[in-house]
Amino acid sequence: MNIGIPAESLSGENRVASTPEVVKKLVGKGFAVRVEQGAGTAASYPDAAYQDAGAEIVDAAQCFAAELLLKVRRPSREEADRLQPGATLISLIESCGSVGSGDELAEQTVARGVHLLAMERIPRISRAQSMDALSSQSNIAGYRAVIEAAAHFGRFLPPMMTAAGSAKPARLVVLGAGVAGLQAIATARRLGADVHAYDVRPETKEQIRSLGAKAIELDIGEDGSGEGGYAKELSEEAKARQQQALADELAKAQVIITTALIPCRPAPELITPEVVERLRPGSVIVDLAAANGGNCKLTQPDQVVEHHGVRLIGHTNYPSMVATDASAFYARNLLNLLEIMVEQGESGPTLKDFEADEITQAMRITGG
Ligand code: NAD
Repeated sequence: MNIGIPAESLSGENRVASTPEVVKKLVGKGFAVRVEQGAGTAASYPDAAYQDAGAEIVDAAQCFAAELLLKVRRPSREEADRLQPGATLISLIESCGSVGSGDELAEQTVARGVHLLAMERIPRISRAQSMDALSSQSNIAGYRAVIEAAAHFGRFLPPMMTAAGSAKPARLVVLGAGVAGLQAIATARRLGADVHAYDVRPETKEQIRSLGAKAIELDIGEDGSGEGGYAKELSEEAKARQQQALADELAKAQVIITTALIPCRPAPELITPEVVERLRPGSVIVDLAAANGGNCKLTQPDQVVEHHGVRLIGHTNYPSMVATDASAFYARNLLNLLEIMVEQGESGPTLKDFEADEITQAMRITGG
């Protein structure tokens, strides 16, 4: 069986779905691996390293003719049309709901007999943790968001005592304490900031405190815990109560990192324009929800804007800014997934029936 690793075509995407280290393991399992020329260059994995690992360097057409395609981002229309009937694509498909609910590209691709497995659908169960790309990439996003905030902030994050004077630690608030938020808290603590954090799921308070941050407690009259460990959307009254209760906490902050998301729903608005106007000039907001409408409506996706002297940072692809490690984590997520998907046949490795395992069953985008 052959595997294709294409170059990512989306503008600004520096990651690649496999690394020479993982390719070597796939070749060891009996796969013939084709890597598109230059696929790993932006992530600092040169073609020669893939060749040394046993891969063949090919053009895009040869790569997309493979039986199994490993990708990072949802395919473009042109890429989807290149996939062969009977082939399998494993990628972040970034598709909400089942096919038939508006994802025309996925729907048509599945109708042509291509099997689509969405990495974002890997269930959040213990057995699938090593395959969970949302977690590996969110971790990186949380780390990189703090680095971005520190670079835009005209003050120190840690306390400083020097002969030329001293500085207090920056007051940094993290909103949303899921995977990205907890990593942001840990990174900001390591950089010496005075970290405060809030999440609508009450169980996160202990996790926030265990990282040395202070948990912000608000009474909004509703529990935000939803299914599968995710948050649920709040009622309109609770949303308004939350915005109001958060306002005074946020007005004291110098740096805010927001990570609040609800699966397949617009991001909740946690920072109103009025709150931004109450912040001190020079404050920084890094909005990790920028691609989903933002936790602050003033955020512009993929832009850095200023409002009343406050800088709002709306990058939408932090993992791509740490492309070498992000690719390495993603490649290992895929390798761990393939461990449960592959069986050795007489003529080499083949894929098992996707329905045979709850993980691949959940990942599958079906026609109905
Ligand atoms: P996510 O990216 O969907 O959301 C980020 C955070 O935003 C969540 O913590 C959510 O509660 C919070 N949020 C949503 N609305 C909010 C609001 N109005 N105000 C404040 N915060 C709000 O979440 P995620 O990082 O993917 O994690 C979701 C859950 O999955 C967590 O409970 C996490 O621990 C769990 N998880 C489990 C596994 C596993 O067991 N394999 C792996 C990864 C994550």
